[in-house]
Amino acid sequence: MAASEAAVAGPRTFDLDRCVHCGLCLNACPTYRELGLEMDSPRGRIYYMIKAAEGAIPVSAAYVEHLELCLACRGCETACPSGVPYGRLIEAARAQIEETMRRPWWARLARWFLLDHLMVSRFWMRAAGTLLYLYQASGLQRLVRGSGILKELGALGELERLAPKIERPFFYRHIGKTFPAHGERRYRVAFLAGCVANVCLAKLNEATIRVLQRNGCEVVVPAGQTCCGALHVHLGLRRQAQRLARRNLDVFLAGGYDAIITNAAGCGSTMKEYPELFEDDAAARERAERFARLTKDVTEFLASIELNGRMRPLPLAVTYQDSCHLAHAQKIRQAPRKLLGAIPELRFQEMPLADLCCGSAGVYNALHPEMASAILAKKLEAAESTGAEVIATANPGCMLQLRTQARQRVAHVVELLDEAYRDHL
Ligand code: SF4
Ligand code: SF4
Repeated sequence: MAASEAAVAGPRTFDLDRCVHCGLCLNACPTYRELGLEMDSPRGRIYYMIKAAEGAIPVSAAYVEHLELCLACRGCETACPSGVPYGRLIEAARAQIEETMRRPWWARLARWFLLDHLMVSRFWMRAAGTLLYLYQASGLQRLVRGSGILKELGALGELERLAPKIERPFFYRHIGKTFPAHGERRYRVAFLAGCVANVCLAKLNEATIRVLQRNGCEVVVPAGQTCCGALHVHLGLRRQAQRLARRNLDVFLAGGYDAIITNAAGCGSTMKEYPELFEDDAAARERAERFARLTKDVTEFLASIELNGRMRPLPLAVTYQDSCHLAHAQKIRQAPRKLLGAIPELRFQEMPLADLCCGSAGVYNALHPEMASAILAKKLEAAESTGAEVIATANPGCMLQLRTQARQRVAHVVELLDEAYRDHL
């Protein structure tokens, strides 16, 4: 077994010991706010992890249930005065669960298909995207939804409700291409196209490239790139995540880019944390550190350069929903707000609790639909209270989650910038 594939160690005592059980994180936790239960709070989950590490409790069904109900949103990490690295703890605990627990056959089959095939294979993603597109475009979806049959189908019906709208043509046709800078080239950047985004957010990816071009970037969409592995890390599948990370290190570090850009906060936070996947492999870790330094969220990158201000007015009332993996994991809060503030005539209205999770959290909304839906309802109430006609965010997962119930338009920050740049030469 390679050094990087050594047995998974579980949460580190050093990290667990930082928790002083003060409870200051409780109100920042969406599941605690919903249920009011200590074991569904960060402090309760950490207590469980400590007991499991001491061998006082087994990795039982109850342990797994409380840890799986966590969104891994890391709101508690921001609230914690002791600097408990909760994201690292929950990922390590989940990796340990994956090592020790045998899931039912159907759950193993679903995970095997989703994580080992669908997310990482263009063939499977294209095939699934095409089937879903035909289902949606043929009118069959309208018929099925109108028939009421989805209520009888349980989890399958829930999945159908959450299925994103497919956008044709897929973004895959742009992978391997280079897009020239508009005007003088100031930067040469690489763009991570994502996985699901290729089939359901192709227009967002295209808008991101146009905005970068307008800001003097030559944008390369490297041919050999793959899924960033965020979902694998969050679900505790570290070995699969390491394999994907190695491939991205090879592809992106070979290009000599000024930055590696992503428009997905979840992908960006995992890419910036690639070094943590290679703690036992010094060479890979050094490359991962270089990669992490180059990785930039698109809002972070644009806010750090001299922004092209030649925009037309967008007289819209806009509020902003912080993505957890941007605000809590990457500590990026001002950049998206600064970009929205740069759009002429856009009226920005802050919403209450903007950085409380929307319930998306990777595939959380599919695995825990009731909790995700309750959390989303609170988010939409907060958005509604601002009177804004647009909810802006900076993460595809949040966009898809908000769109399942929002009455307002939901847009990525770069889509609004793209609109403002349109018709301006
Ligand atoms: S995680 Fe931090 S804020 Fe929460 S109980 Fe522990 S020390 Fe307190
Ligand atoms: S990561 Fe989010 S859901 Fe999980 S314990 Fe922390 S605040 Fe609660």
